[in-house]
Amino acid sequence: MTPRNGPVAIASANGVGAVELAHQRLREGADPVVAAVEGVGLVEADPDDMSVGLGGLPNEECVVELDASVMHGPTHKAGAVAALRDTVHAAAVALKVLQNTDHVMIVGEGAKRFARQHGFPAQDLLTDRAREAWLRWKMQLNDGDDWLDENQRDWNTDGATPRTTGTIHCSAVTADGDLGACTTTSGLSYKLPGRVGDSPIIGAGMFCDNEAGAAGATGRGEAVIQSCGSHSIVGLMAAGMHPTDACLEVAKTIARRSKLQRRLIDDNGRPRFDVKLYALRKDGKFGSASIWSGASFAVADADGARTEPAAFVYERA
Ligand code: ASP
Repeated sequence: MTPRNGPVAIASANGVGAVELAHQRLREGADPVVAAVEGVGLVEADPDDMSVGLGGLPNEECVVELDASVMHGPTHKAGAVAALRDTVHAAAVALKVLQNTDHVMIVGEGAKRFARQHGFPAQDLLTDRAREAWLRWKMQLNDGDDWLDENQRDWNTDGATPRTTGTIHCSAVTADGDLGACTTTSGLSYKLPGRVGDSPIIGAGMFCDNEAGAAGATGRGEAVIQSCGSHSIVGLMAAGMHPTDACLEVAKTIARRSKLQRRLIDDNGRPRFDVKLYALRKDGKFGSASIWSGASFAVADADGARTEPAAFVYERA
């Protein structure tokens, strides 16, 4: 099985530039995981994308910690880093874990040392914009602390900051039907230091099986981990499901399971959070679905790079 119209790359909505670059690299004959990693590298280096790499929102202690994973279809090898500090290109470090070690995941201080050993420069990832967003969040924590809340301040400086998620996933398939995938993120904003989300967990935030397809996830990582999101999608594609239907099925499963934790659902029994899922099949078919309506995803194929709307479980009011 091979794509009918040449290589294809898909990504989360913030990855139009990433799929464009990945698709170009695929056309030049690049390996699919290398193409995906180079594509997301654009977003990792963008200080204005506050969900990943440089400029990513920091943890509770105002330190940016990155998670990333990669997977190579032809060898079924994976690489990942978690809670990586002071390094812009987490996905490329994860690729080094895949290429140069007999391991799958390296975390924290070890990941940082591993990155230095491979020539990745040390760089402070905290931008002023991300630090100011953290400061607003910190000030709003609780009424009884010594930080002035919005309504306690003598004058209002700026608006409230909800905790945000955001990430970039990219999957790629070559004209020969070989697959590669990666997911890279600064994770849930203001998370507990050391908290690891789904992005670097193989089978959760990313999975790739060269016989079937590749998949990835963004959004509430805890929900994706507990349903093995990406692995489940690839399994459904292996059983013959279209990528969109496979994503939708897993989004429904995650929504259903969230009902078991009261704090996660609204008065109508629907999740208070969102999860977005992306899938690319070996034959070049692709799709995406989220729990809530309004999401889109990026794709580049013979028709160029663009965004397309994602399927969804619940319509937002
Ligand atoms: N899934 C990521 C995490 O939980 C965050 C995100 O995609 O927004 O760390």
